[in-house]
Amino acid sequence: MEFDLIARHFTRATPGAVLGVGDDCALLAPTPGMQLAVSSDMLLEGRHFTPQASPAGLGHKALAVNLSDLAAMGATPRWATLSIALPEADDSWLTAFARGFFRMADMHGIELVGGDTSRGVLTISITVIGEVPPGQALRRDGAQAGDDIWVSGVIGSAALALAYRQGRLPMNPIDAARVLPALCLPTPRVGLGIALRGIASSAIDISDGLLGDLGHILERSRVGATLEFSAVPTLPVAQTYLHESVARDCVLAGGDDYELCFTAPVSRRDAVQAAAATSGVAVTRIGHITAGPGLSVLDADGQPLPFEHTGHDHFAA
Ligand code: ADP
Ligand code: MG
Repeated sequence: MEFDLIARHFTRATPGAVLGVGDDCALLAPTPGMQLAVSSDMLLEGRHFTPQASPAGLGHKALAVNLSDLAAMGATPRWATLSIALPEADDSWLTAFARGFFRMADMHGIELVGGDTSRGVLTISITVIGEVPPGQALRRDGAQAGDDIWVSGVIGSAALALAYRQGRLPMNPIDAARVLPALCLPTPRVGLGIALRGIASSAIDISDGLLGDLGHILERSRVGATLEFSAVPTLPVAQTYLHESVARDCVLAGGDDYELCFTAPVSRRDAVQAAAATSGVAVTRIGHITAGPGLSVLDADGQPLPFEHTGHDHFAA
């Protein structure tokens, strides 16, 4: 598309690349001995955001959700490509989008080295590349029976905000204002992921909901889990709404939190807390891995809590 559009909005110095935007390919020199971690995520208008979404917020979120995948692998962010389709070359929209994008990029030391630009329904597709020492990536298949299950930050805020916006959960506007940033401006837990190398036995980022995403760890690790619902950390404001089943669903099965859910041996509790302290993110133990299959959630009395939804399905009607 318009070449000066790319030059104006998406071309920055890339000291960490041999060659950045402007040629047919970027040229990248990985740090010798490191493995590359590569992931792509796409955001579509109508599916992942509404036409009213702020462009700066979209730039932030589109990169944040990709960085979250690197965080979940314990990878150090290095490079990104950005493919964007937009209905028209709207300069002020692109300026704001690029501001949100590069702010997030600069926070995590990731460089935009290429991409593609086309006219079409607003679609943002990003690929991120990170580095991780051999054998130290946090994979989904390493959880062992007896391991603790941990989460970072607080869970459910993004889904509560979405439920409020969609009119499914009546909230007082002051409370809603407390949960909305989680939906619009998620924080990828990059530092925590890196600090958990060699400590966590498995990890995933919570993009589709706690139960569903933990379910992926269980499936890949061939284990089960028991969770204590009352241990799952939420924003204090969420507690006010937990008598509503919609709100409980938001915590257990709501998407878009981009916190990490990970497992670690009981013997590594102090190491996990130290990693959390180094990276400035709170972590909370919410249950443990079991040898037998299946996932049960217990209420405060130790009784199984029934739940209906386990996560987001983009192909659901
Ligand atoms: P080609 O036709 O060779 O694919 P393009 O005109 O699509 O070239 O892109 C020219 C250069 O600009 C390439 O280096 C490409 O990686 C980069 N580029 C295109 N769109 C973007 C974008 N949205 N963000 C960053 N770089 C981009
Ligand atoms: Mg191209």
